[in-house]
Amino acid sequence: MHDANHVSRSSAAIDGPKRVKYVRKLEQIEQLSAEERDRLGPVASRYVFRANDYYLDLIDWDDPDDPIRQLIIPREEELIEWGRLDASNEESITVARGVQHKYTDTVLLLCNEVCGAYCRYCFRKRLFMDENDEATNDVTAGLRYIAEHPEVTNVLLTGGDPLLMSTRRLVEIFDALRAIPHVRIIRIGSKMPAFDPYRVLRDPDLQAAFRKYSTPTQRIYLMAHFDHPRELTDLAIEGIDACIRNGVICVNQCPLIRGINDNPRVLAEMYAKLSYIGCPPYYLFQGRPTAGNEPYEIPLVEGWSIFQQALTRGSGLARRARYCMSHETGKVEVLGIDAEHVYLRYHQAKFPNDLGRFFVRRRNDEAYWLDQLEVVDREPVHA
Ligand code: SF4
Repeated sequence: MHDANHVSRSSAAIDGPKRVKYVRKLEQIEQLSAEERDRLGPVASRYVFRANDYYLDLIDWDDPDDPIRQLIIPREEELIEWGRLDASNEESITVARGVQHKYTDTVLLLCNEVCGAYCRYCFRKRLFMDENDEATNDVTAGLRYIAEHPEVTNVLLTGGDPLLMSTRRLVEIFDALRAIPHVRIIRIGSKMPAFDPYRVLRDPDLQAAFRKYSTPTQRIYLMAHFDHPRELTDLAIEGIDACIRNGVICVNQCPLIRGINDNPRVLAEMYAKLSYIGCPPYYLFQGRPTAGNEPYEIPLVEGWSIFQQALTRGSGLARRARYCMSHETGKVEVLGIDAEHVYLRYHQAKFPNDLGRFFVRRRNDEAYWLDQLEVVDREPVHA
Protein backbone atom coordinates (compact mmCIF):
# COMPACT_ATOMS: atom_id res chain seq x y z
CA MET A 1 0.00 0.00 0.00
CA HIS A 2 1.11 3.56 -0.59
CA ASP A 3 0.71 6.12 2.10
CA ALA A 4 -0.57 9.58 1.33
CA ASN A 5 2.82 11.20 1.77
CA HIS A 6 4.28 8.80 -0.70
CA VAL A 7 1.94 9.61 -3.52
CA SER A 8 1.25 13.26 -2.95
CA ARG A 9 4.26 15.56 -2.90
CA SER A 10 2.72 18.84 -1.89
CA SER A 11 3.65 22.36 -2.86
CA ALA A 12 5.41 22.65 0.48
CA ALA A 13 8.12 20.54 -1.12
CA ILE A 14 8.77 23.31 -3.63
CA ASP A 15 10.94 24.94 -0.99
CA GLY A 16 13.28 22.00 -1.45
CA PRO A 17 16.14 21.78 -3.90
CA LYS A 18 15.72 23.86 -6.99
CA ARG A 19 17.14 21.22 -9.28
CA VAL A 20 16.48 17.52 -9.17
CA LYS A 21 19.52 15.30 -8.81
CA TYR A 22 20.09 12.90 -11.67
CA VAL A 23 21.42 9.38 -11.32
CA ARG A 24 22.81 7.36 -14.20
CA LYS A 25 24.12 4.28 -12.41
CA LEU A 26 22.14 1.55 -10.70
CA GLU A 27 24.85 1.54 -8.01
CA GLN A 28 23.53 4.96 -6.92
CA ILE A 29 20.19 3.43 -5.97
CA GLU A 30 20.61 2.21 -2.47
CA GLN A 31 17.17 0.60 -2.39
CA LEU A 32 18.36 -2.01 -4.90
CA SER A 33 20.24 -4.92 -3.40
CA ALA A 34 23.77 -5.69 -4.56
CA GLU A 35 22.40 -8.80 -6.23
CA GLU A 36 19.79 -6.76 -8.14
CA ARG A 37 22.37 -4.24 -9.29
CA ASP A 38 24.62 -7.04 -10.57
CA ARG A 39 21.75 -8.77 -12.31
CA LEU A 40 20.39 -5.62 -13.94
CA GLY A 41 23.76 -4.13 -14.86
CA PRO A 42 23.93 -5.79 -18.31
CA VAL A 43 20.41 -4.52 -19.09
CA ALA A 44 21.39 -0.95 -18.24
CA SER A 45 24.49 -1.37 -20.40
CA ARG A 46 22.33 -2.26 -23.38
CA TYR A 47 19.47 0.19 -22.78
CA VAL A 48 20.66 3.17 -20.82
CA PHE A 49 19.29 3.98 -17.37
CA ARG A 50 18.65 7.47 -16.03
CA ALA A 51 16.43 8.76 -13.24
CA ASN A 52 16.23 11.57 -10.72
CA ASP A 53 15.62 11.84 -7.01
CA TYR A 54 12.14 13.37 -7.35
CA TYR A 55 10.84 10.48 -9.44
CA LEU A 56 12.72 7.79 -7.49
CA ASP A 57 10.97 9.06 -4.37
CA LEU A 58 7.62 8.11 -5.88
CA ILE A 59 8.58 4.43 -5.90
CA ASP A 60 7.22 2.11 -3.25
CA TRP A 61 10.36 0.00 -2.77
CA ASP A 62 8.48 -2.54 -0.65
CA ASP A 63 6.51 -3.58 -3.70
CA PRO A 64 8.63 -5.37 -6.32
CA ASP A 65 5.82 -4.83 -8.85
CA ASP A 66 5.41 -1.15 -8.11
CA PRO A 67 4.34 0.52 -11.39
CA ILE A 68 6.58 3.57 -10.94
CA ARG A 69 9.51 1.23 -10.35
CA GLN A 70 8.63 -0.75 -13.49
CA LEU A 71 8.63 2.46 -15.46
CA ILE A 72 12.31 3.34 -14.88
CA ILE A 73 14.16 0.40 -13.29
CA PRO A 74 15.52 -2.07 -15.87
CA ARG A 75 14.20 -5.62 -16.09
CA GLU A 76 16.18 -8.65 -17.24
CA GLU A 77 13.48 -9.58 -19.75
CA GLU A 78 14.45 -6.53 -21.80
CA LEU A 79 17.29 -8.65 -23.13
CA ILE A 80 14.81 -11.01 -24.84
CA GLU A 81 15.21 -10.62 -28.57
CA TRP A 82 12.06 -8.90 -29.72
CA GLY A 83 11.08 -6.17 -32.13
CA ARG A 84 13.24 -3.59 -33.88
CA LEU A 85 14.96 -0.48 -32.59
CA ASP A 86 13.11 1.68 -35.13
CA ALA A 87 9.79 -0.14 -34.95
CA SER A 88 7.78 2.25 -37.10
CA ASN A 89 10.58 3.01 -39.55
CA GLU A 90 11.00 6.67 -38.66
CA GLU A 91 14.10 6.65 -40.80
CA SER A 92 11.87 6.55 -43.90
CA ILE A 93 10.18 9.86 -43.00
CA THR A 94 13.34 11.69 -41.93
CA VAL A 95 13.88 14.60 -44.31
CA ALA A 96 16.96 16.08 -42.58
CA ARG A 97 18.84 15.30 -39.42
CA GLY A 98 16.32 15.53 -36.54
CA VAL A 99 13.44 16.42 -38.89
CA GLN A 100 10.56 14.03 -39.60
CA HIS A 101 7.68 14.77 -41.96
CA LYS A 102 5.02 12.08 -42.18
CA TYR A 103 1.63 13.78 -42.02
CA THR A 104 1.01 16.72 -44.35
CA ASP A 105 0.44 19.41 -41.75
CA THR A 106 2.87 18.28 -39.05
CA VAL A 107 6.66 18.26 -38.81
CA LEU A 108 8.60 16.76 -35.91
CA LEU A 109 11.82 18.32 -34.68
CA LEU A 110 13.83 15.81 -32.66
CA CYS A 111 15.68 18.55 -30.87
CA ASN A 112 17.00 16.74 -27.82
CA GLU A 113 18.22 13.25 -26.99
CA VAL A 114 17.91 13.33 -23.22
CA CYS A 115 14.90 12.84 -20.93
CA GLY A 116 14.19 13.51 -17.26
CA ALA A 117 14.43 9.75 -16.78
CA TYR A 118 14.31 6.97 -19.32
CA CYS A 119 11.07 5.05 -19.63
CA ARG A 120 12.06 1.43 -20.04
CA TYR A 121 9.44 0.95 -22.77
CA CYS A 122 10.54 3.96 -24.85
CA PHE A 123 10.00 3.47 -28.59
CA ARG A 124 12.81 5.93 -29.32
CA LYS A 125 15.42 4.36 -27.04
CA ARG A 126 17.74 4.20 -30.03
CA LEU A 127 18.24 7.98 -29.65
CA PHE A 128 19.89 7.42 -26.27
CA MET A 129 22.49 5.05 -27.66
CA ASP A 130 26.01 6.35 -28.14
CA GLU A 131 26.22 5.57 -31.82
CA ASN A 132 22.93 7.33 -32.67
CA ASP A 133 22.95 10.90 -33.98
CA GLU A 134 19.35 11.25 -35.23
CA ALA A 135 18.42 14.07 -32.82
CA THR A 136 20.05 17.47 -32.92
CA ASN A 137 19.84 20.68 -30.91
CA ASP A 138 20.66 22.52 -34.12
CA VAL A 139 17.25 23.05 -35.69
CA THR A 140 18.49 25.22 -38.56
CA ALA A 141 17.76 22.59 -41.21
CA GLY A 142 14.37 21.90 -39.68
CA LEU A 143 13.39 25.57 -39.63
CA ARG A 144 14.45 25.96 -43.26
CA TYR A 145 12.42 22.89 -44.24
CA ILE A 146 9.35 24.13 -42.38
CA ALA A 147 9.64 27.63 -43.90
CA GLU A 148 9.72 26.06 -47.37
CA HIS A 149 6.59 23.95 -46.72
CA PRO A 150 3.52 26.18 -46.28
CA GLU A 151 1.32 23.14 -45.67
CA VAL A 152 3.02 22.66 -42.29
CA THR A 153 0.78 24.24 -39.66
CA ASN A 154 1.92 22.14 -36.68
CA VAL A 155 5.43 21.62 -35.37
CA LEU A 156 6.10 19.07 -32.66
CA LEU A 157 9.22 19.54 -30.57
CA THR A 158 10.20 16.11 -29.40
CA GLY A 159 13.19 13.86 -28.87
CA GLY A 160 14.10 13.05 -26.10
CA ASP A 161 12.45 15.71 -24.06
CA PRO A 162 12.54 19.32 -25.33
CA LEU A 163 11.91 20.68 -21.83
CA LEU A 164 15.37 19.46 -20.84
CA MET A 165 16.82 22.06 -23.18
CA SER A 166 17.74 25.42 -21.73
CA THR A 167 15.00 28.04 -21.67
CA ARG A 168 17.22 30.31 -23.77
CA ARG A 169 17.38 27.66 -26.50
CA LEU A 170 13.66 26.97 -26.31
CA VAL A 171 12.91 30.68 -26.65
CA GLU A 172 15.11 30.85 -29.75
CA ILE A 173 13.14 27.98 -31.28
CA PHE A 174 9.74 29.44 -30.32
CA ASP A 175 10.83 32.77 -31.76
CA ALA A 176 12.04 31.24 -35.02
CA LEU A 177 8.85 29.22 -35.42
CA ARG A 178 6.63 32.24 -34.73
CA ALA A 179 8.49 34.04 -37.54
CA ILE A 180 7.09 31.44 -39.95
CA PRO A 181 3.51 32.62 -40.54
CA HIS A 182 2.04 29.26 -41.59
CA VAL A 183 3.11 27.54 -38.35
CA ARG A 184 0.11 27.94 -36.09
CA ILE A 185 0.57 25.28 -33.42
CA ILE A 186 3.77 24.50 -31.55
CA ARG A 187 3.53 21.22 -29.68
CA ILE A 188 5.94 20.22 -26.94
CA GLY A 189 6.05 16.48 -26.33
CA SER A 190 7.25 16.18 -22.74
CA LYS A 191 7.23 13.90 -19.73
CA MET A 192 8.88 16.54 -17.56
CA PRO A 193 5.62 17.38 -15.72
CA ALA A 194 5.80 13.76 -14.49
CA PHE A 195 9.57 13.37 -14.15
CA ASP A 196 10.41 16.84 -12.83
CA PRO A 197 7.57 19.33 -12.24
CA TYR A 198 10.13 21.84 -10.93
CA ARG A 199 11.24 22.39 -14.53
CA VAL A 200 8.21 24.55 -15.22
CA LEU A 201 7.38 25.61 -11.67
CA ARG A 202 10.81 27.04 -10.93
CA ASP A 203 11.38 28.83 -14.21
CA PRO A 204 9.62 32.20 -14.57
CA ASP A 205 11.45 32.77 -17.87
CA LEU A 206 9.92 29.63 -19.36
CA GLN A 207 6.50 30.64 -18.08
CA ALA A 208 6.96 34.10 -19.62
CA ALA A 209 7.92 32.44 -22.92
CA PHE A 210 4.72 30.39 -22.80
CA ARG A 211 2.73 33.60 -22.33
CA LYS A 212 4.53 35.33 -25.17
CA TYR A 213 4.47 32.55 -27.76
CA SER A 214 1.15 30.85 -26.95
CA THR A 215 -1.30 33.42 -28.28
CA PRO A 216 -5.08 33.33 -28.73
CA THR A 217 -4.67 32.43 -32.40
CA GLN A 218 -1.43 30.41 -32.26
CA ARG A 219 -1.25 28.16 -29.26
CA ILE A 220 1.49 26.13 -27.69
CA TYR A 221 0.24 22.67 -26.77
CA LEU A 222 1.87 20.52 -24.14
CA MET A 223 1.56 16.88 -25.16
CA ALA A 224 2.05 15.61 -21.63
CA HIS A 225 2.95 12.03 -20.87
CA PHE A 226 1.52 10.64 -17.67
CA ASP A 227 1.31 6.86 -17.54
CA HIS A 228 -0.05 6.24 -14.06
CA PRO A 229 -2.25 8.20 -11.63
CA ARG A 230 0.51 8.16 -8.99
CA GLU A 231 2.58 10.40 -11.25
CA LEU A 232 -0.11 13.04 -10.75
CA THR A 233 1.36 14.36 -7.52
CA ASP A 234 0.39 17.74 -6.14
CA LEU A 235 3.60 19.13 -7.66
CA ALA A 236 2.87 17.61 -11.05
CA ILE A 237 -0.62 19.12 -10.93
CA GLU A 238 0.90 22.50 -10.06
CA GLY A 239 3.24 22.09 -13.03
CA ILE A 240 0.29 21.51 -15.37
CA ASP A 241 -1.53 24.42 -13.76
CA ALA A 242 1.50 26.66 -14.41
CA CYS A 243 1.39 25.67 -18.08
CA ILE A 244 -2.36 26.33 -18.34
CA ARG A 245 -2.18 29.67 -16.49
CA ASN A 246 0.53 30.78 -18.89
CA GLY A 247 -1.53 30.01 -21.96
CA VAL A 248 -0.50 26.47 -22.84
CA ILE A 249 -3.16 23.94 -23.81
CA CYS A 250 -2.50 20.57 -22.19
CA VAL A 251 -3.44 17.07 -23.33
CA ASN A 252 -2.06 13.68 -22.38
CA GLN A 253 -0.83 10.80 -24.50
CA CYS A 254 0.74 7.60 -23.30
CA PRO A 255 1.17 3.99 -24.29
CA LEU A 256 -0.60 1.04 -22.69
CA ILE A 257 2.17 -0.69 -20.75
CA ARG A 258 2.28 -4.10 -19.10
CA GLY A 259 2.79 -3.76 -15.35
CA ILE A 260 2.21 -0.01 -15.32
CA ASN A 261 -1.24 0.93 -16.57
CA ASP A 262 -2.69 -2.33 -17.97
CA ASN A 263 -5.57 -2.21 -15.53
CA PRO A 264 -8.93 -0.60 -16.38
CA ARG A 265 -9.30 0.82 -12.88
CA VAL A 266 -5.85 2.42 -12.97
CA LEU A 267 -6.37 3.82 -16.46
CA ALA A 268 -9.82 5.17 -15.57
CA GLU A 269 -8.48 6.78 -12.40
CA MET A 270 -5.72 8.50 -14.37
CA TYR A 271 -8.10 9.63 -17.09
CA ALA A 272 -10.52 11.06 -14.52
CA LYS A 273 -7.74 12.97 -12.74
CA LEU A 274 -6.34 14.25 -16.02
CA SER A 275 -9.77 15.57 -16.95
CA TYR A 276 -10.10 17.31 -13.56
CA ILE A 277 -6.78 19.16 -13.97
CA GLY A 278 -7.33 20.32 -17.55
CA CYS A 279 -5.06 17.84 -19.29
CA PRO A 280 -7.55 15.45 -20.89
CA PRO A 281 -6.52 12.16 -22.49
CA TYR A 282 -5.77 12.40 -26.18
CA TYR A 283 -4.15 9.17 -27.41
CA LEU A 284 -3.63 5.78 -25.83
CA PHE A 285 -0.97 4.07 -27.90
CA GLN A 286 -0.56 0.41 -28.52
CA GLY A 287 3.13 -0.21 -27.74
CA ARG A 288 5.30 -0.33 -30.84
CA PRO A 289 7.18 -3.62 -31.22
CA THR A 290 10.45 -2.03 -30.15
CA ALA A 291 13.62 -3.91 -29.24
CA GLY A 292 13.86 -4.42 -25.49
CA ASN A 293 10.15 -3.89 -24.92
CA GLU A 294 8.92 -7.48 -24.70
CA PRO A 295 8.11 -7.30 -20.96
CA TYR A 296 6.05 -4.14 -21.42
CA GLU A 297 3.87 -5.05 -24.37
CA ILE A 298 0.24 -6.16 -24.42
CA PRO A 299 -1.52 -7.98 -27.27
CA LEU A 300 -3.86 -5.72 -29.18
CA VAL A 301 -7.10 -7.56 -28.32
CA GLU A 302 -6.27 -7.58 -24.61
CA GLY A 303 -5.29 -3.90 -24.81
CA TRP A 304 -8.59 -3.04 -26.48
CA SER A 305 -10.48 -4.83 -23.73
CA ILE A 306 -8.60 -2.89 -21.01
CA PHE A 307 -9.23 0.38 -22.83
CA GLN A 308 -12.93 -0.35 -23.27
CA GLN A 309 -13.38 -1.23 -19.62
CA ALA A 310 -11.56 1.95 -18.59
CA LEU A 311 -13.96 3.96 -20.77
CA THR A 312 -16.98 2.70 -18.85
CA ARG A 313 -16.02 5.08 -16.03
CA GLY A 314 -15.60 8.82 -15.80
CA SER A 315 -17.18 11.78 -17.54
CA GLY A 316 -17.05 12.36 -21.27
CA LEU A 317 -13.96 14.52 -20.83
CA ALA A 318 -12.17 11.58 -19.23
CA ARG A 319 -13.09 9.33 -22.14
CA ARG A 320 -11.75 11.23 -25.12
CA ALA A 321 -8.70 9.06 -25.76
CA ARG A 322 -8.36 7.17 -29.04
CA TYR A 323 -6.62 3.83 -29.03
CA CYS A 324 -4.09 3.95 -31.86
CA MET A 325 -1.11 2.21 -33.34
CA SER A 326 1.56 4.60 -34.59
CA HIS A 327 2.23 2.39 -37.57
CA GLU A 328 4.71 3.06 -40.34
CA THR A 329 1.74 3.88 -42.60
CA GLY A 330 -0.12 6.16 -40.19
CA LYS A 331 -2.00 6.43 -36.94
CA VAL A 332 -4.31 3.46 -37.10
CA GLU A 333 -7.20 3.75 -34.69
CA VAL A 334 -8.81 0.63 -33.29
CA LEU A 335 -12.57 1.21 -33.59
CA GLY A 336 -13.85 -2.13 -32.42
CA ILE A 337 -13.21 -5.85 -32.14
CA ASP A 338 -15.72 -8.68 -32.37
CA ALA A 339 -15.37 -12.47 -32.34
CA GLU A 340 -13.83 -12.56 -35.81
CA HIS A 341 -12.59 -9.16 -36.83
CA VAL A 342 -10.70 -6.03 -35.81
CA TYR A 343 -12.18 -2.78 -37.18
CA LEU A 344 -9.67 -0.04 -37.92
CA ARG A 345 -9.42 3.42 -39.39
CA TYR A 346 -6.58 5.67 -40.46
CA HIS A 347 -6.82 8.60 -38.07
CA GLN A 348 -3.65 10.00 -39.68
CA ALA A 349 -2.05 8.65 -42.82
CA LYS A 350 1.34 8.74 -44.47
CA PHE A 351 -0.37 8.33 -47.86
CA PRO A 352 -3.15 10.96 -48.24
CA ASN A 353 -5.54 8.47 -49.86
CA ASP A 354 -5.53 6.43 -46.66
CA LEU A 355 -6.73 9.29 -44.47
CA GLY A 356 -10.00 8.25 -42.83
CA ARG A 357 -9.94 4.88 -44.57
CA PHE A 358 -11.89 2.22 -42.70
CA PHE A 359 -10.64 -1.35 -42.97
CA VAL A 360 -11.02 -4.73 -41.37
CA ARG A 361 -8.49 -7.36 -40.36
CA ARG A 362 -8.89 -10.88 -39.03
CA ARG A 363 -8.90 -11.04 -35.21
CA ASN A 364 -5.78 -12.57 -33.71
CA ASP A 365 -5.53 -12.59 -29.93
CA GLU A 366 -1.77 -13.16 -30.09
CA ALA A 367 -1.08 -10.15 -32.30
CA TYR A 368 0.69 -7.07 -30.98
CA TRP A 369 0.78 -5.01 -34.15
CA LEU A 370 -1.08 -4.26 -37.35
CA ASP A 371 1.28 -6.35 -39.49
CA GLN A 372 0.31 -9.45 -37.52
CA LEU A 373 -3.38 -9.08 -38.38
CA GLU A 374 -4.36 -11.00 -41.50
CA VAL A 375 -5.86 -8.95 -44.33
CA VAL A 376 -9.56 -9.70 -44.96
CA ASP A 377 -10.42 -7.53 -47.97
CA ARG A 378 -8.13 -6.27 -50.66
CA GLU A 379 -6.30 -3.20 -49.42
CA PRO A 380 -4.57 -0.49 -51.46
CA VAL A 381 -0.89 -1.08 -52.14
CA HIS A 382 1.31 1.98 -51.91
CA ALA A 383 4.56 2.31 -53.75
S1 SF4 B 1 9.99 10.59 -21.91
FE1 SF4 B 1 9.37 9.92 -23.96
S2 SF4 B 1 11.23 9.99 -25.20
FE2 SF4 B 1 11.85 10.05 -23.04
S3 SF4 B 1 12.23 7.95 -22.44
FE3 SF4 B 1 10.12 8.37 -21.93
S4 SF4 B 1 8.94 7.72 -23.74
FE4 SF4 B 1 11.09 7.93 -24.38
